[in-house]
Amino acid sequence: MITSILPTYNRVSISFERGEGSWLISSDGQRYLDLAAGIAVNALGHANPALIAVLTEQAGRVWHLSNLYQIPEQQKLADLLVEHTFADTVFFTNSGTEACELAVKMARKYWYDRVRPDRTRILTFEGSFHGRSSAGIAAAGSEKMTKGFGPLLPGFTQLKWGDHEALTNAIREGDVGAVMVEPVQGEGGIRPLPDACLKGLRDLCDETGVLMILDEVQCGMGRTGRLFAHEWAGITPDIMMVAKGIGGGFPLGAVLATENAASGMTAGTHGSTYGGNPLGCAVGAKVVEIIADPAFLSEVNRKAALFRQGLESLVASHPDVFEAVRGSGLMLGLKCKASNTDVVKACYGAHVLTVPAADNVIRLLPALNITDGDLSEALIRLDRAALAVSGALAPA
Ligand SMILES: *Cc1c(COP(=O)(O)O)cnc(C)c1O
Repeated sequence: MITSILPTYNRVSISFERGEGSWLISSDGQRYLDLAAGIAVNALGHANPALIAVLTEQAGRVWHLSNLYQIPEQQKLADLLVEHTFADTVFFTNSGTEACELAVKMARKYWYDRVRPDRTRILTFEGSFHGRSSAGIAAAGSEKMTKGFGPLLPGFTQLKWGDHEALTNAIREGDVGAVMVEPVQGEGGIRPLPDACLKGLRDLCDETGVLMILDEVQCGMGRTGRLFAHEWAGITPDIMMVAKGIGGGFPLGAVLATENAASGMTAGTHGSTYGGNPLGCAVGAKVVEIIADPAFLSEVNRKAALFRQGLESLVASHPDVFEAVRGSGLMLGLKCKASNTDVVKACYGAHVLTVPAADNVIRLLPALNITDGDLSEALIRLDRAALAVSGALAPA
């Protein structure tokens, strides 16, 4: 039987009515420690006073303006992003998948304008996630997302994660226009691309002229302890997709690009009704101001080290449940020995929210401003969940 909400999601039967920092309060008054943060969206926690202040102030002035006009809040956010990153220019979207759409169009138009319309192919990687639009599912290519939705947008080739030789060969094939990669795969199971690989990929792109598109929708905005994850490798992309954390909970995304990569995107070549609206951009500018502060990022790194240490001992004390800690900064994964969905379920029982990912991993993506006290509490609750899973695993 059909439900009034299209039944595309598997939901648990918990309903939240309020949030405070790293806590969510359910409608029956239970408090849950939130290590999911709306899947890396609530980067500054729930009901953040600084964000409420800008949101309500802007809401009292103007919510939406067409891109027919100058939008000062959009200009401010663009200038901030340009100031803090490799980018020369920014386009605003409302989601990560829309950022993927533009990244693909930008790369195609770049080569079209260079009279190389044959260079349409975009290399991507197995285990990736680039959103649920037609371009996003074709880019990631996994059967789980594409089955039944053909014909798919052509021009994507998925390579094995970590297969240098396949990449080196494919990128030199002449018809490749761009390569799209997450510096840390999120949905794919918190799989970081080693810095050396990202550097090697940058070198290959420089050698061949192929555009490097980084999808930092999940791993960007301070998540790994730098404003953007690629900074750890000391490289810069040509095009970057951003969303999730940048709005702190308000739907907001962006494509950042160099002047060269963006050169095809002239007036009339792309647009969005809601993209860059004053409400979203006012909030986004506040989020960027807070997260780009070196003092804030060094706190993220300090907490990440603390949390990771605790997680390592958690894994060591539950070898039947967990296998390893992986990830970077506060984008952490626990590779499970038990079924990750059982572990996530036990976490609900211990009133701590986690997110399953591919590769039998549970994701821990706390708010970047989570307190030390809440991190200690998280370890206690994860331990409780692990004990519940071990208990269920043990022969009666
Ligand atoms: C979530 C995500 C997307 C898609 O973003 P939406 O806002 O859901 O459209 C794209 N890429 C990555 C890496 C993501 O984590």
